[in-house]
Amino acid sequence: MILCGNPQAQYLAHKAEIDAAIQAVLDSGRYVLGRDAEAFEHEFAAYVGVAHGVGVGSGTEALHLALKACDIGVGDEVITVSHTAVATVAAIELVGATPVFADIDETCCTLAPALLEQLITPRTRAIIPVHLYGQAADLDPVIEMARRHRLVVIEDCAQAHGATYRGRPVGSFGELACFSFYPTKNLGAIGDGGMVVTGDATLAAKMRLLREYGWSERYVSHVAGWNSRLDEIQAAVLRVKLRYLDSDNAARGRIAGIYNVALKDCCGLQLPATRPGNSHVYHLYVVRSDERESLRQHLQRHGIAAGIHYPLPVHRQPAYSSRFPASLPVTDRVAAEVLSLPIYPELGDVEVSTVIDTVLGFFGKS
Ligand SMILES: *Cc1c(COP(=O)(O)O)cnc(C)c1O
Repeated sequence: MILCGNPQAQYLAHKAEIDAAIQAVLDSGRYVLGRDAEAFEHEFAAYVGVAHGVGVGSGTEALHLALKACDIGVGDEVITVSHTAVATVAAIELVGATPVFADIDETCCTLAPALLEQLITPRTRAIIPVHLYGQAADLDPVIEMARRHRLVVIEDCAQAHGATYRGRPVGSFGELACFSFYPTKNLGAIGDGGMVVTGDATLAAKMRLLREYGWSERYVSHVAGWNSRLDEIQAAVLRVKLRYLDSDNAARGRIAGIYNVALKDCCGLQLPATRPGNSHVYHLYVVRSDERESLRQHLQRHGIAAGIHYPLPVHRQPAYSSRFPASLPVTDRVAAEVLSLPIYPELGDVEVSTVIDTVLGFFGKS
């Protein structure tokens, strides 16, 4: 089976280094928020180009913590997209705030800035643009709008580690930015992990309190917090993998380039677009077809596991649909057509050719 993503291949590619890093944690006796967690916070924040990194338990927790740090809660509205991982929306509801859904643009499937203004109310506090599939949302108009209305911008970078917007890494634009290190992400741990990065020292200090019971010193809670810490073993593995992030992203880009050339004349298939000024790190290689379901089954029969990100937009999911009956025509159309072809740094050329031939075969072109 050719998988859509393959975290095990990544482990095997760096097995000796990862095994050694894990063994070193076991030998150190510090298993939570130790030397590796602290070092990784510095290294990853430096990679993104911001001053502070606060490691947490997951990407969802990173968003939760970022919203809490801004005192966003009951009665507040946060604008984001419905075409995203449910985590983006779950985090908004975790703090008691209300998600407000913006539709997306047809070509890149990220938040459509032109539709933002009409969603802003006196209760709006923040905008969460999601850098979906590996490329940045159109940030300039979002940030301009946020400034004008005094809103916080929290970037959801869970699918875009290393992607740039106008030459600068995502995560360095918003007041805060949130990353996930779930195993399949471009920078993935061997379990859960996440981080909030920010240039604001006060917000960073506040998040360090909140993520560990509000402790200002051990056993003394300065504010009411909870527990969401970055695990030491995950941090040690992530330090190893961070060294390969740029070359891994380049490998993804190379595979995407092969798909782009081989599939460009395949009518019936819309290939992923990269917005001018963006570098795309291809967390996913997402094509669109109005025959999505039969194409997916055809690939499945030929041993290729294509994914769907995501089959149901959040506002259509049972947990949300009755509470957020939004009208999002582009989101609905895109959700019905997207299909993620296999892409990960270790995916071999033979497998890439097999995927291409099988897709072309479906459209009667092989
Ligand atoms: C993966 C993901 C998250 C959540 O990350 P977890 O680590 O799984 O909690 C949030 N937003 C987006 C866009 C994601 O893809």
